[in-house]
Amino acid sequence: MSRSSIIVAPGPWDPEPWRKEFEAASDGRPVHVWPKDRARVDNGPYVICAWKADPKIFDEFPAPRAVFSLGAGVDHLQGLRTSRDIPVVRVVDPDLTMRMVEYVTFAVLYLHRQIGTYQAEQRRHAWRPMIQPAASRVRVGIMGVGVLGEACAKTLAQIGLDVAGWARTPRDASPFPVFAGQDGFDEFLQRTDILVSLLPDTPDTAGLVGRNVFARLARDGSLGGPSFVSAGRGKTVVEDELVEALRSGMLTGAVLDVFNVEPLPSDSPLWAMENVLITPHVAADSDPEVIVAQIMRDVERLEKGEPLSNTVDMKRGY
Ligand code: NAP
Repeated sequence: MSRSSIIVAPGPWDPEPWRKEFEAASDGRPVHVWPKDRARVDNGPYVICAWKADPKIFDEFPAPRAVFSLGAGVDHLQGLRTSRDIPVVRVVDPDLTMRMVEYVTFAVLYLHRQIGTYQAEQRRHAWRPMIQPAASRVRVGIMGVGVLGEACAKTLAQIGLDVAGWARTPRDASPFPVFAGQDGFDEFLQRTDILVSLLPDTPDTAGLVGRNVFARLARDGSLGGPSFVSAGRGKTVVEDELVEALRSGMLTGAVLDVFNVEPLPSDSPLWAMENVLITPHVAADSDPEVIVAQIMRDVERLEKGEPLSNTVDMKRGY
């Protein structure tokens, strides 16, 4: 099969590091940054490598051989959901996975070790030791135990936390308990002190995490109440209900990396909440060098007629 040109559409990101990496790795295939280089794209075959690009790209270039997401999520390719049967490939990479493991481990330990409270006490020059429960007495529940969630679960279990997961489909075997679907949701929530969401944004998960979920978390835990880590996708959370839960004490605290609207608007009440730690969607960044290498391996497979590595079921949404 003839070689494809590479159309790179990194949306809000600086395109130049991506152009540089693709040019270095493309083995002579033409590389075009969209929309800047749109006029230079010839009539030959092409692939699109995108991150939060304007969906108009698919009007202008409607027949890519494949679409590669420049990150692990594919919700930004919604515009493609209604269109044809083009393979969509996402990033699955040990570097990105490790970054998420770091973030979730940090966030869970931040809540488990009550660091937010100690930071506030430090500002008041107050020395007030609190009871510190053993890790084995803290139950972590991870919503979404795919590539990222499973890696996080294994690391948290190694530290001694009592970890369970929740997924769409049941597991035959898993090193930690996995509850599945709506049937297993209640039991999963009722045994959870620290809830971690690593869910993708799909039609089924949009707005899934709100009052109705927070109210069902464990109240008998050793940390004095449940808390929440959000590092999957902001649209899965009902943010008003999250704020209300944090104000009312239904949740004792939260570590949040993803939001309904990003950047988080400056008038969001979340910014000023003492029991909230905010990071600006940096839990697991994509490293252009690593990701371009993975994409180019798949472009070669595509051109040889071999199966691609991490294709996404766009009907399912992840
Ligand atoms: P993945 O391998 O596709 O795993 C997704 C998990 O979610 C699976 O366990 C899946 O269940 C579960 N799931 C999906 N729909 C569900 C539903 N309706 N009910 C219950 N469980 C459901 O994805 P991943 O690589 O782990 O990535 C997860 C998400 O993290 C990405 O989609 C992205 O949005 C986000 N992310 C965030 C950052 C950041 O910097 N904050 C960075 C990278 C990724 P099954 O196992 O049954 O399929």
